[in-house]
Amino acid sequence: MTSASLVRGWCPDLFAPMAAKDGLLVRIRPPLGRLTAAQLHVVAEMAESGGNGVIELTNRANLQLRGFSPSSVSAARERAVKSGLTLADEAAERRSALIVSPLAGLDPECAADTLVCAQALRKTVAEAVDLAVLPGKFGFAVDGGGYFPTGLLAGDIVLRARNDGWAVCCGHATTEPASVMNAVGAAVRVARMVALRHPDRARPARIPETGLSLLEEAGLVACSLRVEAVRRPPTVGRLPEGTLGLAVPFGRMHVATLRTLADHLARCDDAVLRLTPWRSVVLAGPSLPGGTMLIDDPTDPRLRVQACTGPGGCARAQVDVAQDALALAMDVPRGRTLHVSGCPKGCAHPGRADVTLCAQSGGYDVIPDGRAGDMPWRSGVGREEIVALLRRLWKERPDVTGERRDA
Ligand code: SF4
Repeated sequence: MTSASLVRGWCPDLFAPMAAKDGLLVRIRPPLGRLTAAQLHVVAEMAESGGNGVIELTNRANLQLRGFSPSSVSAARERAVKSGLTLADEAAERRSALIVSPLAGLDPECAADTLVCAQALRKTVAEAVDLAVLPGKFGFAVDGGGYFPTGLLAGDIVLRARNDGWAVCCGHATTEPASVMNAVGAAVRVARMVALRHPDRARPARIPETGLSLLEEAGLVACSLRVEAVRRPPTVGRLPEGTLGLAVPFGRMHVATLRTLADHLARCDDAVLRLTPWRSVVLAGPSLPGGTMLIDDPTDPRLRVQACTGPGGCARAQVDVAQDALALAMDVPRGRTLHVSGCPKGCAHPGRADVTLCAQSGGYDVIPDGRAGDMPWRSGVGREEIVALLRRLWKERPDVTGERRDA
């Protein structure tokens, strides 16, 4: 374990786990967000033998495993490297954070060279040792569009498909389209500019105004990027080309569910599970594996609520927010979102929700159309009053759409 370990604000991985109430927490970044059936079995075994058996889907298309000890993390890391789930080099692994259009290679509307672009970027970044000083949470995205339209994938540097090539997008700025390899080279040059700005270490995703100057310092001709709200299509249920989107409540599952997915995957023609940055997965199989917690109905009310791990996994959690969120799910109208957070940090949903309930010692803070840390509209609301208050809010705010683009 390195000196960076156990530091909050760091993106935890198998080299630098994060301490939580239920043990050490690690994340696995499967290459291009894809796993084979064999790799899923390895993850299930790691979670069961080294952790507490809980596997979470993250909004960076990673897998998060909980309940590890320092020795079980070391064993899991060795297995992950052998299985091709993690790079052997710690720094290269960390800078290879990359989100790729989940349907690349299947969706005919997604740019045909999306996977070529992603593979080239991953390889080039892994070899660029001078990028070791990038900020800890720095990440790339390769956005090929299609069913999931361009503009949905978030990252500090995003390679975005255009009709005539790939544009490099950084914060609120973009380049003109170029060939795949030229765009990959340009993206890495921009990343170098971010690294050079050390010690500021400002991420363009956090300070999008820096994008234009970063692109220009990298020697690129850049202009402002028109920021548009992009509506996300359903991620669960029937998706293009016979694929199936699946979710689990709060993105949290047990090893049994992961093994069911692995067994099902082994029977599919396209034997790869794709992780999305919306806490769901995509497989090419025609039907849902039975007897699991998997959700395949896009109208399932559990998809309208978000909640963090709660007191079982976090010392800051005041109440079992997942239980409260499930109890309230049936009352959330279609198209609306409810986030029930254990504290103002809002881990489960950093963006805005139609309504956010934030647990405090005297009850819930109620925040309409905001984030967990925002100024509440009502404070200290007890559980018994919440249902009536929420019904009033849904009625009074029919204009709120519930589908948002927040990262
Ligand atoms: S939102 Fe707060 S209570 Fe919930 S997991 Fe994050 S830090 Fe813990």
